[in-house]
Amino acid sequence: MNRARLLVMNAALGPLDYKVPDGMEVEYGSVVVAPLGPRQVTGIVWEADRLPATSVPDAKLRGLLAVLDVPPLREELRRLIEWTSEYYVAPMAAVARMVISSGGALRGPATMTEYRLTGGTPERMTPQRAAAIEALEGEQATIRELSGIAGVSEGVLRGLVNQGVLEPVEVDIDRPYPRARADFHLPDLSDDQRKVADRLVEAVKAEEFAPILLDGVTGSGKTETYFEAISAAIAADRQVLVLLPEIALTEAFLSRFEARFGAAPVTWHSSLKSTERRRAWRAIASGEAQVVVGARSALFLPYANLGLIVVDEAHEVSFKQEDGVRYNARDVAVMRARFESVPVVLASATPALESLHMADSGIYEKLVLPSRFGGAELPDIKLVNLTEEKPGSGAWIAPPLRRAMFDRLEKGEQSLLFLNRRGYAPLTLCRHCGFRFQCPNCSAWLVEHRLSARLACHHCGHETAPPEKCPECGEPDCLVACGPGVERIADEVAEMLPEARVAIVTSDTLNSPEKAAEFVAMAEAGTIDVIVGTQLVTKGFHFPELTLVGVIDADLGLEGGDLRAAERTYQQVAQVAGRAGRGEKPGEVLIQTRHPEAPVIAALEAGDRDAFYEAETEARRYAGAPPFGRWAAIIISSEDEAEAREAANRLGTTRPTLDDVMVLGPAPAPLALLRGRYRYRLLLNARRTANLQSVIRDWLASVDHPPGVRLGVDIDPYSFV
Ligand code: ADP
Ligand code: ZN
Repeated sequence: MNRARLLVMNAALGPLDYKVPDGMEVEYGSVVVAPLGPRQVTGIVWEADRLPATSVPDAKLRGLLAVLDVPPLREELRRLIEWTSEYYVAPMAAVARMVISSGGALRGPATMTEYRLTGGTPERMTPQRAAAIEALEGEQATIRELSGIAGVSEGVLRGLVNQGVLEPVEVDIDRPYPRARADFHLPDLSDDQRKVADRLVEAVKAEEFAPILLDGVTGSGKTETYFEAISAAIAADRQVLVLLPEIALTEAFLSRFEARFGAAPVTWHSSLKSTERRRAWRAIASGEAQVVVGARSALFLPYANLGLIVVDEAHEVSFKQEDGVRYNARDVAVMRARFESVPVVLASATPALESLHMADSGIYEKLVLPSRFGGAELPDIKLVNLTEEKPGSGAWIAPPLRRAMFDRLEKGEQSLLFLNRRGYAPLTLCRHCGFRFQCPNCSAWLVEHRLSARLACHHCGHETAPPEKCPECGEPDCLVACGPGVERIADEVAEMLPEARVAIVTSDTLNSPEKAAEFVAMAEAGTIDVIVGTQLVTKGFHFPELTLVGVIDADLGLEGGDLRAAERTYQQVAQVAGRAGRGEKPGEVLIQTRHPEAPVIAALEAGDRDAFYEAETEARRYAGAPPFGRWAAIIISSEDEAEAREAANRLGTTRPTLDDVMVLGPAPAPLALLRGRYRYRLLLNARRTANLQSVIRDWLASVDHPPGVRLGVDIDPYSFV
């Protein structure tokens, strides 16, 4: 190759051609450095006929500067990058950047300098130094990372290095990971589990594309059975990717994995240190990493030799990325498996309606685990009608749930209360003038967090301390909290059961794998009586002494008119119900609702999953919603309200008129202001026959906008805000 076409890692640039200097070896997929004006860019050598041509004559081409010391991206991955870009109407460079997601990894093998405490003391001890030394006990990391951990400036730490309090350590970044062993500890599977496991193993051995829906009730041993498929892949020396929805769950999963395979898997998530990130990336690219467990971003890593993909809790909303490239990791996982010719297992007790539909249409194979392992019964579900059984004023726990909680505490069993609302109260207002605290950057109320004494926006992260007096009328001590969050429910529990030990479980309290592990250990040891939590507690946890689940407000998720509101409510309540009675003692679930007649609530009470899915399927068919039709959203935003509105109207007037694509809007988005940007929205509803992506691409390309306007395309949207 003496002329190379590059996909450069900059979405604003098209493909660029370069001369390959004499003596430089490149191939398709090579990651290279090229000159661009006075700067340098990273690029990937691409098949020239798969990118738009550039017209610079050979003689005028500049030469590539270097080939980076990483394996070339394989053809399967290049095709996945193209597909993702096409399908989600996103720049290829933006997708490729998710692949090259560790800048450090590109720099080739290296050692790096980390620092740790020597045990010495500085000549002059300041409070800041003392706090830093205390915080850094047992830590070893770069100066920048240590500065984050200790909450002091890098300058303070450099001072400590000069004083000999911190010492440098050279570490080999790419030291190998411990090896997992396929047969480290073999499980004793039930007959049902064995049947499913055998089929999964067979699929791994076949080394062909096979999309499989693993549909099993909560606690049926889905994890246990797909571990057998992982074992087969390890034995065949092929890599495995396991996608998990929530990083906070990883710790419990990791110890289970280690017990089965004798070594921890390689983990991939956003809070990895840069060195760990780089080490994982290179081990994945070289094929040394055997099993990777990660959040959705692990999907785009450059596996050398993939043999199996598992998406656990595959119905989870968190697999949908909501900014940048707005992709759904569950769907991309299936495409990746197809390009790689490997099986993909979607495991869930409450599969997405789309996944069930694929199974019913014979496109996915469905494997079923119909009952809980060890004979545990599914819990008994009852409704509490809040219009009849009223909680006291300023309270949210109705008498039947209170009685059940007293009973559990007396017996020494655990209760779990579910409310999908972080903080103390979702709205704060002034009793005197009615002023409501709103985020300055978003059209959203500020949520009171009493534990951390702040008012916070859950959309942009804006925070302030609650003021002493109303900022509008100046009245002191006049702020009232409206509505419940988990912190307020925990207060109610503390008042009702003063001797109970209560734990609040949200992304605020379980914000690191260590905290998650600590919580799990306490719950298992029985030192927690009542857990109050958000959707975080609906997933994965297995506490044998937990026999009561209370859903504080099952109607909450049904508000808002979101396309998947009913499905999501069903999934969340069924999942949280699945936490009850997993041990020997039977479980009971009380669902508080004002709408016992709503189909989703009635189906939950009856434990009739099929009835729910049938009703929901009909509703979707009628609405032309997925899987029968398709939705896409276009969000137009600008810091200037008029500019956003005009851009939206310009797009609106040039809308395509087609039989099979309907365009709704433009209208102000439900979140009309987000992070300081005004937002307008157009919705597209298309029949399955339409080529929705090319309609959108052509349409957007035909209209120009001022530079302050941003367009975001969301194909198969989950969030309609
Ligand atoms: P799921 O993933 O379907 O919710 P799990 O795989 O987490 O189910 O299994 C639920 C619980 O039952 C776990 O604690 C697991 O260790 C246990 N379990 C399931 N199958 C077996 C088995 N064959 N032998 C021993 N324990 C099992
Ligand atoms: Zn905000």
